[in-house]
Amino acid sequence: APEEPVVELVGVRAAYGAIEVLKGVDLVVPVGSVVALLGPNGGGKTTTMKIVSGLMPTTAGELRLSGRNVTGITATEASRLGVCSIPEGRGVFANLTVRENLWVATGTGTPLAEVEEAAYTRFPKLGDRRNQLAGSMSGGEQQMLALSRALGTSPAVLLLDELSMGLAPMIVSQMYDIVGQLAEEGISILLAEQFARVVLPIADTAALMLGGRIVAVGDPADIEHELSTTYLGG
Ligand code: ATP
Repeated sequence: APEEPVVELVGVRAAYGAIEVLKGVDLVVPVGSVVALLGPNGGGKTTTMKIVSGLMPTTAGELRLSGRNVTGITATEASRLGVCSIPEGRGVFANLTVRENLWVATGTGTPLAEVEEAAYTRFPKLGDRRNQLAGSMSGGEQQMLALSRALGTSPAVLLLDELSMGLAPMIVSQMYDIVGQLAEEGISILLAEQFARVVLPIADTAALMLGGRIVAVGDPADIEHELSTTYLGG
């Protein structure tokens, strides 16, 4: 049998109070592929990521992880099942050093030395700054740290929400070069990004979200026509 997708949403609906913000979302992330959620603010990208990471309940539909119906799981359970997310705003501990931040990834059992070596090999700059407080580093460096910490947990799927937020355009394209390398290493990735142009080259599938629905999905080359210049951004 073919491998089950690492993430699958079937007819997912979600609401904040009485206001429905996901209105029947179907989404598949096959193992080893990069799926990009695109579209303007408020379309429902972040809410979709929150469903997958167990941070928000569905009001209808199903969440499946590796073929298992896990609808209603908590964030702790999702993380145990290998869902690892880098939220908007990165989520590094500003008052901890680089090493101490990486230590957080060892909660899943990988020795700190191994997590550190992988991080510093991928990002030599982090090695130079291993004893520096994360909060005193540049946005791009903090994002490298957040990625290293996530990779230290050997995730089944990596969720990246608006990696570009607050970063200079040159740093954004460097970050997505790195994400492209991760993809080539076979890591499954679900990402949300307002500025489609930087992610289309590395995505296997692009989905345009508007008003709580996926209105177009497919090969980035095909979807590009459906993305107006507004949605392509930067
Ligand atoms: P963004 O890039 O701004 O996060 P998005 O496409 O990720 O945009 P969501 O954050 O998922 O969109 O928001 C979808 C809708 O839900 C929006 O209309 C937003 O105003 C609303 N919303 C988001 N968070 C809340 C909340 N905590 N309470 C009420 N409404 C919310």
